[in-house]
Amino acid sequence: MVGSLNADLVAYAERLPGDGETVHGHAFARAAGGKGLNQAVAAARGGASTLMLGCVGEDDLGAFLLDQAGTAGVDTSAVATVPGASGVALISVDDTAANRIIVVAGANAALTPDRVEAAFAALASPPAVVLCQLETPLDGVAAALHLGRRSGAITVLNPAPAITLPAEVLAEVDWLIPNEFEASLVLGEPVSVATSEAALDVARRLREHGPRAVVITLGARGAIAVGPDSAEYTLEAFRVDPVDTTAAGDAFCGGFVAALARGLPVPMALRRGCATGALATTRPGAVPSIPTEAEVDTLLTP
Ligand code: ADP
Repeated sequence: MVGSLNADLVAYAERLPGDGETVHGHAFARAAGGKGLNQAVAAARGGASTLMLGCVGEDDLGAFLLDQAGTAGVDTSAVATVPGASGVALISVDDTAANRIIVVAGANAALTPDRVEAAFAALASPPAVVLCQLETPLDGVAAALHLGRRSGAITVLNPAPAITLPAEVLAEVDWLIPNEFEASLVLGEPVSVATSEAALDVARRLREHGPRAVVITLGARGAIAVGPDSAEYTLEAFRVDPVDTTAAGDAFCGGFVAALARGLPVPMALRRGCATGALATTRPGAVPSIPTEAEVDTLLTP
């Protein structure tokens, strides 16, 4: 797992303040987050041996993030502690669940190609899967995908937060996992995923840009995929009672790659991804909402 670790600092208030205004909040929470760490926790809880490659700052939030990752079963021996502040997300939430978020990359900006290359060189054995997102510098992500492919790993990219990606990065990707918005940015034009057939067509077009396989996650509608052998899949979402959809996409990615890393066939890996994403919507927060392998098994058992 290559990516970001952020401390989510969440203040809850009846309403959000306007310009120059101060309001009294009624609750505060600090939780581990960041797309990289969310996905690492989902992979570890999904039963895969998970090594995180990332950076935290030399502050108390860095120590907190390492502790939370370790407690969730993620191997943090390749997370570097670097000078300066850890990555943070300052989140304000009002009583209607509307939010405002400021993310400060902090130490995540230090995940450079040099650091990625050194971490790959130090690996005891080649990884089965390398999973990246885009909350850390793109050249470091490109290096990880390149080295992953060269070592025989399945490379997976969740292109979030969305940017337009260079062709040479897309060419290193085995599985690209965007949502609708990210798919349109990668293709460079608005796309429609209003029906499964339309979404499959977007996935087919994305494959022409380099990735060997594509999953498009469709929120409460589930997901569609086109596999490396061009096999097409339409996955219904699991019926759950969502309370907070934060990290559903991260949970999908971690659950899916954990299954791939364990050698499960693609249709089963997709189902496990959907089940992991669905369960993550039933609890608040990011890392705390991510289900265990046993919880996913229970949802999958008819
Ligand atoms: P993102 O958060 O990246 O936009 P999605 O919202 O598409 O990702 O969610 C990822 C996956 O989680 C979906 O493919 C789906 O399987 C599952 N999921 C998300 N929201 C729901 C929901 N309301 N009910 C059931 N499953 C959901």
